[in-house]
Amino acid sequence: CGIVGYIGRRDVAPLLLEGLQRLEYRGYDSAGIVITGPKAAGLKLVKAKGRVRDLEARVPKRFTGTTGIAHTRWATHGAPSDENAHPHLSPDGRLALVHNGIIDNADELRVRLEADGVVFASETDTEVLTHLIARSPADTLEEKVRQSLKLIEGTYGIAVMHADFGDRIVVARNGSPVVLGIGEKEMFVASDVAALIAHTRQIVTLDDGEMATIKADDFRTYTTEGSTTTATPTTVEWEA
Ligand code: GLU
Repeated sequence: CGIVGYIGRRDVAPLLLEGLQRLEYRGYDSAGIVITGPKAAGLKLVKAKGRVRDLEARVPKRFTGTTGIAHTRWATHGAPSDENAHPHLSPDGRLALVHNGIIDNADELRVRLEADGVVFASETDTEVLTHLIARSPADTLEEKVRQSLKLIEGTYGIAVMHADFGDRIVVARNGSPVVLGIGEKEMFVASDVAALIAHTRQIVTLDDGEMATIKADDFRTYTTEGSTTTATPTTVEWEA
């Protein structure tokens, strides 16, 4: 339902929790956040069924990092629960994914993955995509995501983090909005400008079939077919 992400130098958890609160008007049944940073060993995850403040109450004192993605979920596959809340992690805990939308062929892909020995931790359609990306033999995170998206049918706005590619967040859009917020040595991503205009008014709106890689001081956009696209930020004037 709602996505917000950040990569930069600021303490990321308060930023993302505030961003989630700005998306509350959309409605949701659970929320979650995953973060990492130069001094963090791997990814740190907290999820909770219920309100953003229920999630906030679970966030430990030292939950520091400078990169993260967060989500508010509106359940389509699997009941609202802690386990079904996003972000979803790969079994080794090194990949995290948040997803808005519906993967239509999730059941079929799940059966195939389970036949391959994959053990699922949730009932969501989203976790199917998490496993596909985590198991991709491609060398780069962009390519792992790109190849995996080819296998799914349905709608998505996604954001992906990987402990082995800690300098970036990869996002993609098909039928569910994704916008980038361009800052000074920091970048934002969200499903709705409302989550990020407190921080930047320089916005790039992705098209369907488009992906982006954001780093602290740089971003690039390209299609799910792999060809580069030009994205010029526009200035959003209105008040949220
Ligand atoms: N289909 C996904 C789920 O049920 C995402 C729902 C959403 O857009 O929040 O977990």
